[in-house]
Order: sequence, then structure tokens, then C-alpha cells
Amino acid sequence: MQNNEFHQAEITKIIDINPMVKRFFFKFAHDVIFQSGQFVIIDFGKLNHTYSSRSYSIADLSHGSVIEICVSLKENGAATPLLFNYKIGEKLKISIPQGRFILPDNLNTESIGFICTGTGVAPFRSMIKDLLTLRKYTGKIYLFFGCRTQNDILYREEFEELQNTHSNFHYTPVLSREDWNGAKGYVHVHYNSIFQTKPNAVIYLCGWSEMLKETRENLKSFGYTRSEIKVEFYD
Ligand SMILES: Cc1cc2nc3c(=O)[nH]c(=O)nc-3n(C[C@H](O)[C@H](O)[C@H](O)COP(=O)(O)OP(=O)(O)OC[C@H]3O[C@@H](n4cnc5c(N)ncnc54)[C@H](O)[C@@H]3O)c2cc1C
Repeated sequence: MQNNEFHQAEITKIIDINPMVKRFFFKFAHDVIFQSGQFVIIDFGKLNHTYSSRSYSIADLSHGSVIEICVSLKENGAATPLLFNYKIGEKLKISIPQGRFILPDNLNTESIGFICTGTGVAPFRSMIKDLLTLRKYTGKIYLFFGCRTQNDILYREEFEELQNTHSNFHYTPVLSREDWNGAKGYVHVHYNSIFQTKPNAVIYLCGWSEMLKETRENLKSFGYTRSEIKVEFYD
């Protein structure tokens, strides 16, 4: 169920990752309390669409009054072309954080998997930092991130740094359209090698449903149950 409490927030920083993806930072007049994995709803007022609001995952484990979101441009979309034209200082109506796509209270699994494409990595950035820095989770953490080329890898340096400093974090960006020294093809081949033997794990999937539905079916065929697979569809 959505929570309809909205507050005004101002864009204080915008970072272009590539022509199709931007990071937006919003400052509220008060501290924002949220659990890693949650999203906010932006009310655009009037849109050329049935619905005037869109949801965005909180992309960092930020504290205080600023939150970050990471948005991919849908060129024919109603909201994102508008959002991509906003400048620093623009004021928007944004909901309080919400959603049940969060980490379990009891981290009693031997591993946690995160599988995504594109901006589906946003809530995982927050959750992985939560696991490694706040909760000090000692089980294995796997992040499989699928995209086309190296230019599309989001937050690459940060995840590489986390992998270098935490021996239990395993980061696998997978490229489908560029030849490189890393993992190639589609993500499925790569997470299969870890999850096919069904280690005791909870696995999170996030992004556009096309890839995730196949992933969910694969994981079910390995024996994972509904409660062990958590999904956030962006569409
Ligand atoms: C809980 C939740 C969290 C979300 N978090 C994020 C986030 O962190 N970052 C983010 O970029 N988006 C996120 N989304 C998607 C976001 O809410 C919008 O749907 C998206 O920004 C497109 O809005 P639009 O008005 O430009 O396009 P619309 O006019 O709404 O789009 C039209 C159609 O295109 C599809 N579509 C839109 N974008 C894409 C895409 N990139 N790839 C494939 N199909 C697409 C939509 O499903 C829709 O059917 C989230 C959605 C949900 C439900």
C-alpha cells in the first residue's frame, strides 16, 4: 500500500553518469528516515499520462536530509524527459520512503544475492552498503549487474572498491554488447554458477520485468521458494 504523505524537496545536485542515466540529489527540510531498499514517489503534478507520479528507489545509504535517486531516461516516457530537464534548485513533491523490498531483520542465510540490470542496481547500492558497513554481515554477498557496454556500468568504481575492501562481497558486471576481460553475455549464465547448487540464500531481483521474470523462473527451478526470492519490478 502506498503512503501518500508528501513533502517538498529541492534538487541540490545532478550527476550525469552517461547520456541516458542521471543521479539526482534531493534535500528535504527535515531528516529522511528509511530502510535500505525502499523507494519514494515523485508527484510531477501534471503529466501527459494517466498517472502523475513515478516511483524511484533510494540509491544510497544516505543520512540526514538528502536522498539520492538514479534514473534512466525513457525517451518517449511522460516523466523522465521532464525530470532530465530539471536544474539544480527545482522544487518537487516527494513522498516519504516506502516499500517492503528491504533486508530481513534476521540475517541468518549463508549468502545474499542481488541480480539486476540498469538502474535496478539503485536499491542494491543502499542494501549492500547497509550489509557491509552497518550490519557487518559476514556471509557471502553476490551482485550480478547486467548491461550492454562498460559505459553503462553504474557505480562501478564504488562496487570495485567495496569488493577490494570486503572479502565476502563478490561483484560481477556482465556485458552483453562489448567484448572485454570481464563476464560476457547475459547475467543468467553467471548467477547460475553460484545458485544452481542452491546455497542457503535469499536473492533480490530488481529492474524491468523482462529479465527478472526469467531469472525468477530459473531460481525456482533450482529449488528456491517464493519467500527466498524478493522482487521489485520497475514496470
Ligand atoms: C518501486 C519502483 C521503483 C522504481 N525505481 C526506479 C529507479 O530507481 N530508477 C528508474 O530509472 N526507474 C525506476 N522505476 C521506474 C519509474 O517509476 C518510471 O516507470 C520510469 O522512470 C519511466 O517513467 P516515464 O514516465 O518516463 O515513462 P512512462 O511513460 O511511464 O513509460 C512508458 C512505458 O515504458 C516502460 N519503461 C520505462 N522506462 C523503461 C526502461 N528504462 N526500460 C524498459 N522499459 C521502460 C514502462 O514500464 C512503461 O510501460 C521504479 C518503479 C517502481 C514501481
